[in-house]
Amino acid sequence: MSELIMVVEDEPSIAEVVSLYMKRAGFQVVTAKDGGEAMAYFEKQIPDLVILDLMLPEIDGLSLTRWLRDRSEVPIIMLTARREEIDRIAGLEMGADDYVVKPFSPQELVSRVRAVLRRLKRELAAAENERPVTHGSLTIDPRSRSVSIDGKAILLTAKEFDVLYLLALHPRQVYTREQLLERIWGGAEYIDPGTVTVHIRRLREKIEPDPATPSRLLTVWGVGYKFEP
Ligand code: CA
Repeated sequence: MSELIMVVEDEPSIAEVVSLYMKRAGFQVVTAKDGGEAMAYFEKQIPDLVILDLMLPEIDGLSLTRWLRDRSEVPIIMLTARREEIDRIAGLEMGADDYVVKPFSPQELVSRVRAVLRRLKRELAAAENERPVTHGSLTIDPRSRSVSIDGKAILLTAKEFDVLYLLALHPRQVYTREQLLERIWGGAEYIDPGTVTVHIRRLREKIEPDPATPSRLLTVWGVGYKFEP
């Protein structure tokens, strides 16, 4: 599914060129010729990105930006004239993500749209990586770097935490010692591969009901380790 771009522009020729280039770039496009139309559309469907002209009749671009920001985190790129510098700054402060000064090259606008969407995807992926992981009674929260079992806090060292979080984030995926050394210890060559074994053993003592017969941190013989949810 390609992303939906909403173009809010009262000048038909500009709206047309922008839509054309966005469609050519593989985006879906919806156009609105003023703030009212944009709001009405927005109430029905939130686009993936909004390109809006700062100088609009009736509801101006700044008010529309504020209105959109109150309702969503939708990325906004403003189209501004060179003389509207003060408004441009106000727009950025109000939460617009980027701006393009008129007259602009439509190809440049396409690049900006792609850049903003890419950045957003990266941010979403990063937020996803920060999410707490829960498997049964075990909860791991990367934001506070805390681990608990049945609500009872478990104290782990920094590396023990990193190993457990990596494994628990990808349950049943087998990691070799070399992969763990690479990911957690940055592949430092002077680290003894036995370090991983030691960390796994200590983790088992802390999180396994019976460390001698682990049910969470399993050894895959001849390969490495995995987390069993
Ligand atoms: Ca205008």
